[in-house]
Amino acid sequence: MNLDTAVQYLMGVGPVMAKKLQTLGITTIGDLLYYFPFRYQDFSEIRPISHIKIGQNNCLAGTIKAIQTSRSWQKKVAVTEALVSDQTGSIRAVWFNQPFLSKNLQIGDFVCLAGLVKLGKKDIFLSSPIYEKMSSENELTSLGRLVPVYNETPGITSRFLRNLIKPLLDQTKSQLKEFLPAQVSQANNFLPLGQALQQIHFPETLALAEQAKQQFVFEELFLVELSVLQARLKLAQQKAPAIVLNAELMKKFTNSLSFTLTDAQRKCAWQILKDMEKPCPMSRLLEGDVGSGKTVVAIMAALNSVKAGWQVALMAPTEILAKQHFYQAAILLRSFKVRIALLTGKEDQIISQKLGWQTKDGWRPETIEISRNKILERCKKGDIDLLIGTHTLIQDKVKFNKLGLVVVDEQHRFGIAQRAKLCQASKSGQLLLPHLLSMTATPIPRTLALTIFGDLDLSLIDEMPKGRKEIITKVIAPSERKQAYQFIRQQVKGDNRVFVICPRVEGQTPPQLGAGSDPTRWNEAKAGKVEYEKLSQEVFPELKVGMLHGKMKPKEKEKIMRDFKLGKIEVLVATTVIEVGVDIPKATVMMVEGAERFGLAQLHQLRGRVGRADQQSYCFLFTESASSQTRQRISAIIKAKNGFELAEKDLAIRGPGSLIGKKQWGLPDLVMANLTNLALVEKTRETAKQILRQSPSLKNYPILAFKVKIFEKQLHLE
Ligand code: ADP
Ligand code: MG
Repeated sequence: MNLDTAVQYLMGVGPVMAKKLQTLGITTIGDLLYYFPFRYQDFSEIRPISHIKIGQNNCLAGTIKAIQTSRSWQKKVAVTEALVSDQTGSIRAVWFNQPFLSKNLQIGDFVCLAGLVKLGKKDIFLSSPIYEKMSSENELTSLGRLVPVYNETPGITSRFLRNLIKPLLDQTKSQLKEFLPAQVSQANNFLPLGQALQQIHFPETLALAEQAKQQFVFEELFLVELSVLQARLKLAQQKAPAIVLNAELMKKFTNSLSFTLTDAQRKCAWQILKDMEKPCPMSRLLEGDVGSGKTVVAIMAALNSVKAGWQVALMAPTEILAKQHFYQAAILLRSFKVRIALLTGKEDQIISQKLGWQTKDGWRPETIEISRNKILERCKKGDIDLLIGTHTLIQDKVKFNKLGLVVVDEQHRFGIAQRAKLCQASKSGQLLLPHLLSMTATPIPRTLALTIFGDLDLSLIDEMPKGRKEIITKVIAPSERKQAYQFIRQQVKGDNRVFVICPRVEGQTPPQLGAGSDPTRWNEAKAGKVEYEKLSQEVFPELKVGMLHGKMKPKEKEKIMRDFKLGKIEVLVATTVIEVGVDIPKATVMMVEGAERFGLAQLHQLRGRVGRADQQSYCFLFTESASSQTRQRISAIIKAKNGFELAEKDLAIRGPGSLIGKKQWGLPDLVMANLTNLALVEKTRETAKQILRQSPSLKNYPILAFKVKIFEKQLHLE
């Protein structure tokens, strides 16, 4: 038997139980050892029977003097009674409906019992205590100590897990390999691994349990950091095109804008452009609140690359956004002769700078549609400078001639493998990886950024363009709904646009409910279609109401967004498809139904869809939930004006899963639970750096290197 042995072969497990254990993520003996309790029950104090306390939970030890099961007078319930004695006295124990007890427990057995002591009509008694037989050979597992409580699943109780794990702790001791470098264990006063496992499952004291737990948190964070930092070292050894900053060109570009860049935009653009001058691949995260103007910064980097002779790929998370970037890029670059193409799922368009025309709404790019194959062909030849699209851009068919920069909007993660894939076509024999600029408006708190984006450099746009007014955020009580609708009518009359966000569209599967939301309320959620019909027919028959949801075809979506921009639609009922990035400067009201269903960061993103020009804008939140968590969260969104503040709060209220999605990353539970602990994250990071300085490939620490490899397989960081 070793740590990789399947649990199925353990005594008392078998195929059926093994399946159940699997639902808890346990398949091997090693998994079992690392399945940690989430709390402990304190049964450590065994009281003499003469000292038991009425009305409290008591744990005592004694010999069974008598035991019998009888039917109660109604003949329905089996009542088992036992008399238990120690040197100080005797007490009656009573169980209901557990007739098998009188088979398990027999006169003369020495047992430990724990349960509530009640005062009955004739005496005091122990009510339905849990029990464990005691013998001189076996230490107690479930009583007479701090007892571990595990997350359970039907058929798998904590008691079952305890009995499984306890003997393994001894049996596997010789096979446990210390993988933390000795200097790290010493510096942190860590217990030997075997002892740490012993203390986290069956601790002597709560303090030791906590110490062991901290040790395992460190261990797992340490592996995350090592893997992230190693990726960074690997990248630094790769080559990338050194793209010289063309100051004159950048000046010409900024002068062509209808606004002045903020200092923060300037600073970030500088950092990015300087970074790309180096001959190794840039990996940079451009982080900025919604509406802070990230696109224009990315376009500067793109323009500088294109004019130095390199192609640029820009990836957006959805087709709507890809299209929006396409138009935005076309407008921003209209006088710079950049050949831009859009590659989406089905339709493809290519645009050249000569085809624009001026309308009273501003410059509109004309697009000519050409076949997908033609775009691919031109891109391969290098006849397209800037290719914009969704994840279709990293499909095998897309080849570039000279790719210099990849810009990823709101995709969070893009690794070496994907980069290498994009530049397969480079001819020079040597693989030149493109630079990477990743953009996000999800304000990732520092601890998270350090852990997950530890291999990226950070540029922060921490300032909003001038003239933006603070968005007025309000919770609207049901009685004020009519007034809110009236307000919306006035806004529309003033040539403004209104978003109405509903949490669900008919027939669609519900998104993951937040920890605090109550799934039974789901049915009450405003289905988008119902809301659309209500608004268009009953509430605003005089207004142009439109609807947008994720299931529509890209063409339909695009038409609706265009109509909304032009005013052919005035009130747009939408699901969260519009959540990230959509830019409609005339939108001044964001109305969110079922606000309790959204995360804070998400609400903030939604709110960021308005107030994108200099008009006063409003965010109205409707909620059906009166829970304290909802109130806490809604009040956070009203108070906090900045995404970072909110993200920290979301992290505190709902945990890291709400921000980054647990499944998406595959981070271990212990790590997730400790991501808010900045000091610990920094400490593990520093330690990881030290170790990698001594041994960049971890050659001196073979067991650790192996462990990191295994660990990486579980993470989906790329
Ligand atoms: P985000 O950072 O959310 O992606 P965008 O790049 O879409 O934001 O910019 C939001 C809006 O602000 C756009 O309409 C853009 O043209 C405008 N904008 C960008 N920078 C500035 C600036 N410095 N001053 C005024 N408006 C700006
Ligand atoms: Mg954006």
